[in-house]
Amino acid sequence: MERNSLLRAYNLRMMNRRQFLGALAAASASGQSSKRVLIAGAGVAGLCCAHELTRRGYDVTVFEGRARPGGRIETLREGLAPGVTAETGATRIPDTHHFTLGYVREFGLSLEPFHAPDGADLFHIRGKNLTFQNGKEPDWPLDLSAEERKLGRLGLTRRYLLPPVEAARPEARSPRVPPAISAADRTDLEGYLSGQGLSRDAVELVTLGFSPTISAGQMLLVEASSEVRDTFYHIRGGNDLLPAAFARRLAGKIHYGCRVLAFTQDDSQASLVVERGGERETHHASHVICTLPFSVTRGLFEGARLSPQKRKLTDGLPYFAMSKVFLQMREQFWRKQGLSGFAFTDLLSERFWSLGPAQASQRGLLLSYLIGPKAERLDALADTERVRATLEDAERLFPGARAHFEGGRVKSWAADAWQKGATIRLPPGQLGVLAQCASPEGRLHFAGEHTSRWSGWIQGSLESAQRVVREISA
Ligand SMILES: Cc1cc2nc3c(=O)[nH]c(=O)nc-3n(C[C@H](O)[C@H](O)[C@H](O)COP(=O)(O)OP(=O)(O)OC[C@H]3O[C@@H](n4cnc5c(N)ncnc54)[C@H](O)[C@@H]3O)c2cc1C
Repeated sequence: MERNSLLRAYNLRMMNRRQFLGALAAASASGQSSKRVLIAGAGVAGLCCAHELTRRGYDVTVFEGRARPGGRIETLREGLAPGVTAETGATRIPDTHHFTLGYVREFGLSLEPFHAPDGADLFHIRGKNLTFQNGKEPDWPLDLSAEERKLGRLGLTRRYLLPPVEAARPEARSPRVPPAISAADRTDLEGYLSGQGLSRDAVELVTLGFSPTISAGQMLLVEASSEVRDTFYHIRGGNDLLPAAFARRLAGKIHYGCRVLAFTQDDSQASLVVERGGERETHHASHVICTLPFSVTRGLFEGARLSPQKRKLTDGLPYFAMSKVFLQMREQFWRKQGLSGFAFTDLLSERFWSLGPAQASQRGLLLSYLIGPKAERLDALADTERVRATLEDAERLFPGARAHFEGGRVKSWAADAWQKGATIRLPPGQLGVLAQCASPEGRLHFAGEHTSRWSGWIQGSLESAQRVVREISA
């Protein structure tokens, strides 16, 4: 029996004082105090659960397998010149992400724009470099109809992709998947666009820089969930300052180097089996929160009394492979050429971004960012080969890259044993899975990117954490 039920039974004179104190001591010893909560994972979802529950007077313990907090928020500094930082995971924060920006403000962190304000974006298509600035479309070397050519990439995107995103706008803060987006969740992006009459080359133009085989519903959801009004931000000094700020406040409550091996529950308590330094430990509490991605939870819920539907999800969901290759450049030479360092291409390096201080003469990074099939192709290469292939693509887009190159770093999220993928990948027709991932099962609760309609964003992890805190403290 939990503390409150015991108190009620005592007040109703269903037990005497001695029996009440004895039962209370037994409940606390076995972790049944209704204020004790265990959390698996110290990514931003686990940290936020711990922070908010601590605020409400709960006794929380977080178990994290790695030796650091932050999970998919990871800022590289080692192996790069002093002052240069590389975001392997979450990089940009839309100006509409009220949960994320709320914690940025609470912790006194400062923001900087993610995309350099000046300079033209580049497109590389069929061997040609084309610049795109101030909405002025280049002459696309593609077989487009007169109407498609007139609309250009921007016009095609506005006409064929924006309407469901616009229709979802009134529900910008609602945690459910907006119906306008669910209605589009029938096919992949290529099928969605060609189904509306776009030619093959027009589909290629609209989807240049990312995989057209992604579910149209998920693609539109990610857009609707970003809904950037004006700009994307980056946390000055590195995005890992956000999980670090949570972690500093939680101090001794986070146990690093603790791999969760099993979740269990019975009528009176929920438990975690953890491996620490080669030894197994079992911990009990009134509630356990799982924030581990469902790419790494296969077999962890055998004694957890999950419904068959939930068990199927925890036994493995598909995740996107995502890879980034960072090229450190002696100076941001592309800025001197009037370029932003951002590019969309039909090469193996499908997208380039740049990161660096405002002064072009200072060091910066050109990075390629691959999602899905192209990331899988790149992941098959050795690190040195990945850097070589990316530098080759960079030289085609930004002549001078080779001459300014100082060194490369690589990150593959599919190869990361703690993640086994980057963000949840929902085949067409599967947007409803997000709500199923989120639903609690007895004393077990589920938070994390894969349990929120802001999936794929830090905002989703934070929203899910606040939902779980409500579930527990209601
Ligand atoms: C390449 C990439 C780009 C992204 N870009 C953006 C972006 O620009 N903007 C944005 O807002 N978001 C972005 N995201 C999404 C964002 O990073 C995630 O939504 C968020 O960080 C996920 O946090 P989480 O706590 O839900 O999960 P995680 O960060 O995955 O946390 C789970 C934690 O569980 C730990 N763990 C795993 N297995 C075990 C185990 N058995 N025992 C104990 N611990 C375990 C992991 O080490 C990890 O720390 C991006 C993500 C990726 C991968």
